[in-house]
Amino acid sequence: MQRDPKLPGTIVTPFLEWRAHRIHDPVEKLKFLRHATAPKPVPKDAPRPVWNFFRRSWRFQAGGLVLVALLIPSRTLITARGSSRARPAATVTEAAPPVIPGATPNVWQVEKTGSYEVYSNGLRVENEYATANEPRTYYVFERNGNSTQPLPDARFVPAGIVYHTTESHLAPFEPQHTRQLKRIGRSLLDYVRQNRSYNFVIDRFGRVFRVVQESDAAYHAGKSVWADSNFFYVNLNHSFLGIAFEAQTSAGDQNPVASPAQIHAARVLTEMLRARYSISPANCVTHAQVSVNPANMRIGYHTDWAGNFPFAELGLTDNYAQPLPSLYAFGFGYDPSFVTSTGTRLWKGLELAESQLQQAAAAAHRQPDEYRKILRKRYREMLRVVDNKGAEEDHS
Ligand SMILES: [Zn+2]
Repeated sequence: MQRDPKLPGTIVTPFLEWRAHRIHDPVEKLKFLRHATAPKPVPKDAPRPVWNFFRRSWRFQAGGLVLVALLIPSRTLITARGSSRARPAATVTEAAPPVIPGATPNVWQVEKTGSYEVYSNGLRVENEYATANEPRTYYVFERNGNSTQPLPDARFVPAGIVYHTTESHLAPFEPQHTRQLKRIGRSLLDYVRQNRSYNFVIDRFGRVFRVVQESDAAYHAGKSVWADSNFFYVNLNHSFLGIAFEAQTSAGDQNPVASPAQIHAARVLTEMLRARYSISPANCVTHAQVSVNPANMRIGYHTDWAGNFPFAELGLTDNYAQPLPSLYAFGFGYDPSFVTSTGTRLWKGLELAESQLQQAAAAAHRQPDEYRKILRKRYREMLRVVDNKGAEEDHS
């Protein structure tokens, strides 16, 4: 909702803006806005103002019905947490507020049966493949300071999401292949369940399957690193949830490899998980952004969603533009040929990380290579601590 500077004191909703935008004559437009936003006495028994508004033209009726159908679900589902301030009843200001990228969604469970769950934003989670694994337990490192020791308290709630593609065999997405598509989807789910590979799988039809329950770790991210404004995360299986699209990434592909149904499913699933666990949008990242190979100290061991993840369509900020912590905080390098083969979006973050590292080296009066060695040493120590903690958990 925003105030129109031309009309002091009036509130112009996106709904009215849309309508006003369609009137090209400026005088007519002004008349319309004044008329639509002026307070009107409502005689008893008169139709409500919103209906007057709807009855004015058939075009508006048709457009209005479509809009109402589109807006009602998102109005109820994607309202920012804590924004439930009182609104005037039954006026056109009931139109959906604009979606703010990254704002914490408000989503709740409305139904649960033995085999599925339904949420207030339309998300349906299938539970027939749900299974347990080792309980989620992890430690974080503080960003400030140089300690290679994590904070002492274990954490049990996921701090982020890593998005994957399954890279599994795909049948052509056509009606005559429905049986094959279903059969392949089921065998993929069996495989993921057996290997505890992900917390969720979104199949080719956009159905959301819970596999490893959220209270438990899934083996989706292996050697990986990420950072938010407060903490470093080393090895993300326990600290981040894993969501896999049944899809394949082709090298350098700039277009989404997921279907519109899968992207919609990922959006409502992400909203639910962010609402339930208070996950920051900055911690919703792709496997290619977090994957590292400590053996050769290079990033990009896994390259799924390296350059084409639909952050905006999922209601997230473009995290490809974030500097990569693997480079600036842990001293990893990269293979230049890998850069050219994985698209360009991720590499904004790579450039930013490089310049961040150069600045930090200068501030520490070190050559970049020398500084990188210090970071790598620190990473190896952190990795050793995390691996030992993991071993302790296994024996406890
Ligand atoms: Zn992956």
